[in-house]
Amino acid sequence: MKVTVFGSGYVGLVTGACLAEVGNEVVCVDIDEGKIARLNQGEVPIYEPGLDSIIERNMAAKRLHFTTDVDFAVRHGLFQFIAVGTPPDEDGSADLQYVLAVARSIGERMEEYRIVVNKSTVPVGTADKVRQAINTVLNDRQKPCEFDVVSNPEFLKEGAAIEDFMKPDRIVVGADNPRTTELLRALYAPFNRNHDRLVCMDIRSAELTKYAANAMLATKISFMNELANLAECLGADIEQVRVGIGSDPRIGYHFIYPGCGYGGSCFPKDVKALERTARDVGYQAQLLQAVEDVNDRQKLRLFEKVNDYFKGDLKGKTLALWGLAFKPNTDDMREASSRVIIEALWEAGAKVQAFDPVAAHEASRLFGNRSDLALSDSPEATLKGADGLIIVTEWNVFRSPDFDVIKAELSSPVIFDGRNLYDPARMKALGFDYFGIGRGASS
Ligand code: NAD
Repeated sequence: MKVTVFGSGYVGLVTGACLAEVGNEVVCVDIDEGKIARLNQGEVPIYEPGLDSIIERNMAAKRLHFTTDVDFAVRHGLFQFIAVGTPPDEDGSADLQYVLAVARSIGERMEEYRIVVNKSTVPVGTADKVRQAINTVLNDRQKPCEFDVVSNPEFLKEGAAIEDFMKPDRIVVGADNPRTTELLRALYAPFNRNHDRLVCMDIRSAELTKYAANAMLATKISFMNELANLAECLGADIEQVRVGIGSDPRIGYHFIYPGCGYGGSCFPKDVKALERTARDVGYQAQLLQAVEDVNDRQKLRLFEKVNDYFKGDLKGKTLALWGLAFKPNTDDMREASSRVIIEALWEAGAKVQAFDPVAAHEASRLFGNRSDLALSDSPEATLKGADGLIIVTEWNVFRSPDFDVIKAELSSPVIFDGRNLYDPARMKALGFDYFGIGRGASS
């Protein structure tokens, strides 16, 4: 089948590459000329495990093309996927300017039937706006042309995006007629062989499903962080509590890890946008507001622990920091907790020596060249001359480090662990001052 994908970011690239991998002819279009030039030279602009080899293979097979040529892109695909960003506007609502710009681009060029498939995360009612934007342009062109708009939200996780796309838990299709649903079913058939994963529904419900999923996951995290903070006050260990509650199948072990807050390009903006949507229809979403507030506070917990340990005197101190990405296996630093912690450390007069397996280039893009930030090329290199170690992202490489080296290099043997990677009793036995999240009175 012929597919066009607007937006070559995390979602667009994975969608385009995976659809090409199963034999479709895919054109990915982006307005970022630099990005498209790099892709055409075989360079993948994001870090996503497994993506580069799929792109390379399918470009070589001439099933995957990258272009800035919108005329060609609209001519090409029966399916016109929209996978552009929907960043938060100043009032927290999702900014739809990129989605609607794509809709207009399609309307301006469409000559025959097209299915416009919205993969971006968008508020309920956006499909109507997309339809209206296309119709307005078609009317201006005096070009009657049939098209359908489908909501097909994406649930992939950065870091495991290929696996998620190839073997999805569910494929949500929101459509208002059976014909489009069946065409989408045919497109997704290669990913749907084991059992039927297509969940068909009306468009507004599909749009809300994506926000509901992310808000639920964010709620689980904020709930555990709230409990972790309480555990510290009560002298209980949240990790034991976690296992105790996770064993109840109604709760389950997934996604109940306490930590230093959620980040990324989705949870923060989607919780905000859903809350804003609620406000727009006169409903006060109290729980969503609390989820966000708890998370904002949690992102500063590690800094507060560091500040308390050094008795509020961080001026001239140097902190080693492991993990810059908002989670492991990605280079994405959007809304990452590391950013909040680093900014707070700088504000207090401290220097940071940081290491991340893949996000250093993103950190230098974000922070530029500064004397109070050194980006190291190994975890050990961050420790030289540092007064303490802060762990922000739970990359595998941090799970079992050489504690003798850490102790020997740090001027004071103290670890602030934002992901509870280590056992407090073992850390104590090794001679560390150790602070996790919610690990009893001493944390
Ligand atoms: P991204 O910022 O990585 O990529 C968006 C791309 O769209 C950019 O390359 C940008 O240049 C391009 N673009 C903007 N306007 C365009 C236009 N008019 N024509 C063509 N390209 C254009 O974004 P992302 O992380 O891939 O997210 C895309 C959408 O998917 C968002 O709504 C997001 O909420 C949603 N989503 C993201 C994830 C994730 O893990 N990143 C998961 C599920 C859903």
